[in-house]
Amino acid sequence: MNALRAHAAAHLTEHIDLLDGLVRLPSVAAQGQGLDETATAVCGLFEAAGGTAEILRLPGAAPAVLAEFTGRSDRTLLFYDHYDVQPAEPLDEWTVPPFQVTVRDGRIYGRGTSDNKGDLVTRVAALRALRDTSGGLPCRVLFLVEGEEEIGSVHFDSYVAALRDRLRADACVWEYGDRDPAGRMNVIAGVKGICYVELELTAASRDLHSSLGALVEGAATRLAWAVAGLRDATGRILIPGFYDRVTPPRAKAVAATREVPFEEGQMQMHVGVRGFIGGRTGGDALRALLFEPTCTVCGLEAGYTGGGMKTVLPRRARAKIDFRLVPDQDPEEIVRLLRAHLDRAGFADCAIKPLGGERAFQTDLSHPFVRTVVDAVRQSTGRETVLLPTSAGTGPMYPLGDLLGVPILSIGSGYWGCNAHAPDEHIRVDDFEETIVMIAHLLERFALES
Ligand SMILES: [Zn+2]
Repeated sequence: MNALRAHAAAHLTEHIDLLDGLVRLPSVAAQGQGLDETATAVCGLFEAAGGTAEILRLPGAAPAVLAEFTGRSDRTLLFYDHYDVQPAEPLDEWTVPPFQVTVRDGRIYGRGTSDNKGDLVTRVAALRALRDTSGGLPCRVLFLVEGEEEIGSVHFDSYVAALRDRLRADACVWEYGDRDPAGRMNVIAGVKGICYVELELTAASRDLHSSLGALVEGAATRLAWAVAGLRDATGRILIPGFYDRVTPPRAKAVAATREVPFEEGQMQMHVGVRGFIGGRTGGDALRALLFEPTCTVCGLEAGYTGGGMKTVLPRRARAKIDFRLVPDQDPEEIVRLLRAHLDRAGFADCAIKPLGGERAFQTDLSHPFVRTVVDAVRQSTGRETVLLPTSAGTGPMYPLGDLLGVPILSIGSGYWGCNAHAPDEHIRVDDFEETIVMIAHLLERFALES
């Protein structure tokens, strides 16, 4: 590992320059910007590191990149990354230019540095380190890099289905990973699913004088009732059938959760609240965060919200709702259950527009790859790790994990304060360098597994 460390240190500037090359391409999926040229640049990055790479295109989709590196063993590790980024707005809140790398105070700033161009570069840099120090790679390596992660990976399952045979691998390393405030690397073994819908109610043919409130029920009031009926104050979702497919978490996952440091006071302070839903604390709160589905009103829009008074009875009201799902829940079925629930509750006229759905995925923690990753992280960083059975967030793990049947774990170059999706996104230089060694060391250990 000393040779790897020396290599990572000696080539640090070069690797930051590689990252700068990617950050300078503003690949904002939401705005359809810079996607082709970034996919081409990613291909070039892989080829320069000694791999073969190909741009793939499905109709109507952003291009994806598939790359292959041969190694001394046929064991194959697949990396999943994405080259698209979130929009940089609000631009006036950045203290550095978003679309170029700025190194300042031990940090590497720029849109995509943490999510997830930095991870992608550390992975390529790890392969370069292995080749330069030992003449080749210990195992075969594949990369699948998509360009629509930040807009819900809309075509990702089609890409995975089309590439199924070429993606055959023994395990997969996911896009991101962060270090907690104590410096421990989070090794994350799953994601929640999501079902995102827009609800819309129309109460009248036009906005009305609110004196008609004696006779006509406004759309805003009815939408508030409809939304309030989705969940109770303890977090329990009130849609009949919603929990039918929810099974208790696996024993190994529950056991791992007991080892996860969770301080609710610190978290409450961090997010600026006095307490959690249902008064949950400690392990109970952590279990809810990781293993329970949610229903959140993400936005409400109705009537007049400008200054002063406008006595209006709004004709239309809209709500955006997300449900975070747990394994075995199917987003399409959730939409059907929601439809039936609204019909029964007197809201048959409430339109539901599904805006996105992904299923949850959790790697079985008894798979040997879990130990390999945890040990590799611990040994290369010299610090304790935290194994999280799942993230509370969502990503497209399911198409890969389910179709290929491989274990998937997430580790990367981020830390808790990265400002991902926000102004002044950054990673720390030390983490960037450490991650290169960590990934290289993982590949060495992985190659030895049988
Ligand atoms: Zn993101």
